[in-house]
Amino acid sequence: MFGVSASRASAVFLDRDGVLNENMAGGYVTAWRQFRWLPGAAAAIALLNKQGWKVFVVTNQACIAKGIASHAAIDGIHDRMLHELRVRGANVSGVYVCPHRPEHGCSCRKPRPGMLLQAAEEHGIDLPASYFIGDSLTDMRAAQAANTQGILVRSGLGRSQEEEARRLQAAGHYCDTVLEAVQYITRQGQLHDPKRRV
Ligand SMILES: [Mg+2]
Ligand SMILES: [Zn+2]
Repeated sequence: MFGVSASRASAVFLDRDGVLNENMAGGYVTAWRQFRWLPGAAAAIALLNKQGWKVFVVTNQACIAKGIASHAAIDGIHDRMLHELRVRGANVSGVYVCPHRPEHGCSCRKPRPGMLLQAAEEHGIDLPASYFIGDSLTDMRAAQAANTQGILVRSGLGRSQEEEARRLQAAGHYCDTVLEAVQYITRQGQLHDPKRRV
């Protein structure tokens, strides 16, 4: 088994909207019919699986607290999403959802690192050896706060937030798509670098 050091596993965390599926212009994805896959999403996850990475989805969904969608409706979208991924050989180990509004001041809503820390705790993840692929500065701030490596993708908000992210040195790398980000991770060769196999 590779991808796993003595006790802790490496993981790739993925934001959902703007990374796996298209951002809904001016709103939220509240029904499956509004969920539009971005190209390469399943292939990216399948490639990570093949290389021994655990994959998690980490998403802010304030639409729940705002009463725009029920928790059950969002869970239903995720069940369908995970099913379509599995059919394509792509497995996600967990989906973490922050249902709160920004003004709740919860510890899970990105840019806070709560969901990343919770996943790391529950699954024994080595955060510095892991990555967070997101399309917004908020994701990159959460990555920094969790001490994991941020990759900003231009597929969603990233195109407009890249300049600011670069100015703040908020991300470790910049890519067009989630598949490119995964190919970058592969090139880092972390899993096969003997120096990392302590
Ligand atoms: Mg996003
Ligand atoms: Zn929250």
